[in-house]
Amino acid sequence: MTSFLPFSDDLSKYQALIDLLPVAIFIKDAESKILLINKACELQWGLSLKKVYGTDASQFFPPEQMEQFLAKDQEVFINAKQVDFEEIIWNSTLEQNRFVHTFKKPLYDKSGKPLYLVGMSVDITERKKAEQRITEMATHDLLTGLPNRALLKDRIEQALEHCRRNQKQVAVLFIDLDHFKVINDSLGHDVGDLLLMEVATRFVSVVRSEDTVVRQGGDEFIILLSNLDNELGAEEVAYKIIDVLILPFLIDGKELNISCSIGISLFPSDGENIWTLLKNSDIAMYHAKKSGRNNFKFFTPEMNRQAKERHIMEVGLRNALKRNELQLYYQPIVNVDGSKMKSMEVLLRWRHPKKGLVCPNKFIRVAEETGMIVPIGEWVLRQSCLQIKAWYQKGYEVPRLAINLSAMQFRQKNLVACIAGILDEIGLGGHCLTLEITESELIENVEETIRTLKQLSALGIEISVDDFGTGYSNLSFLKRYQINTLKIDHSFVRDITTDLDDTAIIHAIIAMAHNLNIYVIAEGVETNKQLAFLVSHGCSSFQGFYFSKPLLAAEIESRMLLAN
Ligand code: C2E
Ligand code: MG
Ligand code: MG
Repeated sequence: MTSFLPFSDDLSKYQALIDLLPVAIFIKDAESKILLINKACELQWGLSLKKVYGTDASQFFPPEQMEQFLAKDQEVFINAKQVDFEEIIWNSTLEQNRFVHTFKKPLYDKSGKPLYLVGMSVDITERKKAEQRITEMATHDLLTGLPNRALLKDRIEQALEHCRRNQKQVAVLFIDLDHFKVINDSLGHDVGDLLLMEVATRFVSVVRSEDTVVRQGGDEFIILLSNLDNELGAEEVAYKIIDVLILPFLIDGKELNISCSIGISLFPSDGENIWTLLKNSDIAMYHAKKSGRNNFKFFTPEMNRQAKERHIMEVGLRNALKRNELQLYYQPIVNVDGSKMKSMEVLLRWRHPKKGLVCPNKFIRVAEETGMIVPIGEWVLRQSCLQIKAWYQKGYEVPRLAINLSAMQFRQKNLVACIAGILDEIGLGGHCLTLEITESELIENVEETIRTLKQLSALGIEISVDDFGTGYSNLSFLKRYQINTLKIDHSFVRDITTDLDDTAIIHAIIAMAHNLNIYVIAEGVETNKQLAFLVSHGCSSFQGFYFSKPLLAAEIESRMLLAN
């Protein structure tokens, strides 16, 4: 019992003194009756001394708060020591709760009888709000206000724990918006952000309150469904998610349409822990994208096997460039009697240390999806130019080399500068190159494509439309572009002599190309019969095994002419 009464019984003497202090001060008797409060305390409680004097002020505070105040007062007297703690206190004037940090100390008379309780209390509401905001920011996405990945982790762990005990299932839905990048790039990030917020609201509207909708970043969302009896619950939500996007969004006065692809993994069948479930739902989402978007796919072990293979391919490809495992083959494109080589197509191969020679169909897609096609494509360009230079130096008449450009390369902002740079570096002009691009690349971003093609043409480079006929385009669109050659896709050539539809298509393509003054090459010609048909329909050049397979640089030299 260390404290005893150090001051006069007439507490009101201290009023003026404690009113000077900026923190709330209150003095109560042993029954918690209020004897004195200062100005700062009057403000903090929103009550005047006149109102509360001699009472425990219970009519001014909510009962549950009052109970706590009194319990603390008792604790202070019983334990005979100072306590400090945080509490919530009702302010009657502001009509709101305030967070305060309170100190309470007991005072005793000389005989050790409890006499007064002296309290001090500091308003920490603003600090608490800031702390809450920081926690909110750490666990929520700032744009949509949805929980973020950090919070998702907690929620999944809780869901797994609960469902493990109750033998229920958990579903993780990985959602990626389809072609969101196009909206962001063409209409700007502000519109993109507004759309994401609206999408988030719609997603939340179709799930139960106990489910969690998370924005994982960019245009990716994750929905966690807990307590499921079977996968039907997840399927139902997936349908709802797809349906809820059907109605157009009105953003900034514009009507926007968007769809999404969803991958679903289930606990326990597809994974026992959060990371496996997330990874597998991501893999399933990738399959939903691949099978045409705007749909959902449940994860299967087969998908996992494919994902592993893809990963191995990805790592292998990264090394292929470094370890010099890529190699170029050249296939002649000749006039129909085979007497003149019009050009040569450059075809990439991967000399894999274990698998041997790998054809591009096996790896170009992965290279495109991972962006590796850009450095690989640049390598093909440089290597081809170096080869032309080497052949020049040996005295060959080198026909144009036709190089395949993938869509991603074609859309690189610095494509023209990069090609010009390579030509310049090696000391060649653009007249030694043709670039092969596919129909679908021409249809997207028309204005930009026209500009790029003009710039390439100004360098002397020719443009060839590859795999023509597979892109479902209207033939007349070709008029708008600077195009020199059309390559009829080999799928038409293959059945040319038996399939009447293919025959009609080839006939139409050749006639139209002649009208537009575009040169036509038939791809994949393997037989004399196919060639004869093409000749009879006015096709002047072809490429195919009938004349030559793709060959290595050294092998093809025997087919090239010396310049003099
Ligand atoms: P593509 O540009 O249509 O190339 C023609 C493909 O047809 C080549 O396959 C070629 O070997 C094959 N071919 C040629 N003549 C015949 C024939 O008579 N019969 C049959 N059945 N096939 C024939 P390859 O070399 O496997 O290339 C496949 C595709 O990979 C190419 O199709 C092209 O789109 C892409 N590609 C090849 N090299 C590159 C490259 O350096 N960069 C990019 N981005 N893509 C490339
Ligand atoms: Mg090609
Ligand atoms: Mg082709």
